[in-house]
Formats: sequence, structure tokens, C-alpha cells
Amino acid sequence: MRSLFGAIGRGVFTLEASAKKRERVDDVQVLEIPINSQEFELPTIRVWQLQRQSACLSYVIISQRRAIVIDPVGDVYLYQKLIKHTYAQIAYVLDTHLHSDHVSSGEELAVATEARYLSPVTMQAWLDNSSGWPEFVLRINDLVMHAMATPGHTLESLSFILANVAFTGDLFSLEGVGKAELRNGNVHKQAMLLWQSMSHMLNQLPATTLILPAHAAMIELGSLREILRPLLMNPTFFVEEIVEKAKASV
Ligand SMILES: [Zn+2]
Repeated sequence: MRSLFGAIGRGVFTLEASAKKRERVDDVQVLEIPINSQEFELPTIRVWQLQRQSACLSYVIISQRRAIVIDPVGDVYLYQKLIKHTYAQIAYVLDTHLHSDHVSSGEELAVATEARYLSPVTMQAWLDNSSGWPEFVLRINDLVMHAMATPGHTLESLSFILANVAFTGDLFSLEGVGKAELRNGNVHKQAMLLWQSMSHMLNQLPATTLILPAHAAMIELGSLREILRPLLMNPTFFVEEIVEKAKASV
């Protein structure tokens, strides 16, 4: 099975055509993500995907002049500058996970803007198992986001679901999985966790959900589910692949 980067890339073109490139601020390319606020009875919200010169993606949600930044990286000044255009203030900064492939500037941004920083480690304490899968509801201003535990790439990884979009961090990328875990001797366990997390998300959310990863391009969940069907049906093969990749990358 080839890298999911390649797999996800095949689904992106029609979506990028429907999303509108709004502007470029310094080294940041801003892509507006189509989100149907009315369908979900939400206040008017905007969701941006920010791509810097590095391969890391960040996301900004703006509602009623309050902004939430997810997975910020690099110079925090650019986030402040970009959001200032909208007359919004950054209220919350979240990270889906903490990892060397995506060095967070979340705390620094929160301090600079007097926002509240919520690390995935902090949010682990809020997870509730009563529905059968660890998750919780995150209420930020008038927005209701569902946070879902999606361990595997890292143990504390979370995904955030808002209306028809899911911010999934590195849940759907095979690259980077396994290196650190192999040193800890946990690669089998983490590979199985990753398979469980991927399967849960792809089976729980509607096919029209837009998957917004931290590195790969966005894709509709239904398309991703079709691409990954062979992996979802064969956890043994999936775990073997992850372990082999981890060995090869040491
Ligand atoms: Zn990562």
C-alpha cells in the first residue's frame, strides 16, 4: 500500500476547485474551506486553511469576531496579522497533537494574543468513554465542536469535528508514524491504535464530511473511505505495513 499522501492527493482537485483562494499574506497561502453554517444552524462562520512554505497546514475558524486557531506553526506574527484583517480576536488556540513533524507555536501564539491555549495533553483529561469511544464536546463561544480521541500517530492525538469539517491532524498520513514509537518498542500497539482510530472516524462520520489534515490535502470522507477500504478490512496487513515503514525509516 502506497503512502496515504498519494492516496489523499487524488481526491483533492475537485474540492480545491470549489474552494476559493482568498489571498496571500507574506508566505501564507489562505484557502477558504466551504462550510455550510445554515445546515448546522450555526452562526456565520468562516474556516480557512493556511499553508506556509513548510508543508504544515494550520486552520482558523472565525465566528462573531472571535477566532480559533488549530495547529499553528512558525512565526505567530503572521496569524495575528491575518486575523486582524477580519477585526476578530484570537480567543482559543488548539493543537491536534504534539510532534516533531509539526512543531507547535500554539503556546507562543496564545501568550501573544492573550488567548486560551488548549494542548491535546490538557484535553485528554476531558475525554469521556460513555459513548463507547473517548470523546467530549468542546463549546467555544457559540460553536460546538466534538473532540474525538484518535491515537496512533501519537498517543495523545485528537481530532476536532465542526459541522461538516473534521480537523484530523496527522491521523490520515502514514509518514512519520512509527519512528519514535519504534524506539519505545510500541510500534505494533500504536499501529493498531491508528487503525482503530481511522476506522472509527471513517465509519462514524457522514461521507460528505471534509477531512482537513495537518499535512496532506483535504478530501471528502466518503472518497477517503473508498481509497482506504482494503486497509480498513485488513488490520493485520495495515500493522505490518506500519512496522515495515518504521523499520525502514530508522
Ligand atoms: Zn505529526
